[in-house]
Amino acid sequence: MRTARTRSTAVAAAAATTLLVLAACGSDDGGEAEAPVETPDASEFEAGTTMADLSEAGTMTIGVKYDQPGFGLLGLDGTPEGFDVDIAAYIAGQLGIERDSIEWVEAPSAQRETLLENGTVDMVIATYTINDERAERITFAGPYYVAGQQIMVNAGDDTISGPDDLADNPDFTICSVTGSTPAENIRQYLADPSQLVEFAVYDDCVSAMETGQVQAVTTDNVILLGYVAESDGAFELVGEQFTEEPYGIGLPNGDVEMCEFVNGALASAAEDGYYEEAWNSTAGQYEGAELPALPDPDPCA
Ligand code: GLU
Repeated sequence: MRTARTRSTAVAAAAATTLLVLAACGSDDGGEAEAPVETPDASEFEAGTTMADLSEAGTMTIGVKYDQPGFGLLGLDGTPEGFDVDIAAYIAGQLGIERDSIEWVEAPSAQRETLLENGTVDMVIATYTINDERAERITFAGPYYVAGQQIMVNAGDDTISGPDDLADNPDFTICSVTGSTPAENIRQYLADPSQLVEFAVYDDCVSAMETGQVQAVTTDNVILLGYVAESDGAFELVGEQFTEEPYGIGLPNGDVEMCEFVNGALASAAEDGYYEEAWNSTAGQYEGAELPALPDPDPCA
């Protein structure tokens, strides 16, 4: 765990340096997109809805990742930054909640449904793939982005060129995170279940790959691109993406009104240019990360 936190700090420091350099050059905003904060009048949200309650409270609790450069990374100032964080700030802003009034909670992959079920958080925005199993326990708004699973190795390691080579190389171990879709999906490609090593957060996988305890890390391409970019040439991606991971916004089960509200907020973020601005100042800064178009929302259920 110590290694993981040390690495988080190192990545955050590297990210902070990049931002300072960018700010100095005046070439890009870098960092965070400024979320407009609406001032909804009291009658805007129907009494008793989540929107009315949150708006009235002036604060909300949001689960994000703390170890994923570009999407959710804990900054040196103790607040997270990244595309997910900016999207969260926009949704809060639509409820009249300032970014500074949001309470952030780390939402590791395996804990996301539980955090929503037990009321620890009001919302989860954490590279969270929409799937049927999860949708039995929580409600998803979105998607707001579609990623795809890929594999990262130490630069120059050409043992495998994609998931199909894993079974022929049983000593080649691959790391992913417990409770994530990539950890589940990779199993079908393995010679033996022990070829998969699981940790609670991606930082630990990345540290294990750096020290040679595992040979690869698998998760969504955009998460891996962040690690590649921060590695200074030490890591690279192999092969193409081999799944589709539509990212949703997790809400307590059955909150259809809030889901529709969040989908409306996403549409207005795309319309007013915030979505693009947020992307360009976060994950979009990494090489190979292309500006997405906001996908059509799924029906809220
Ligand atoms: N999108 C995948 C998932 O929701 C992997 C990323 C993650 O673990 O957050 O499981």
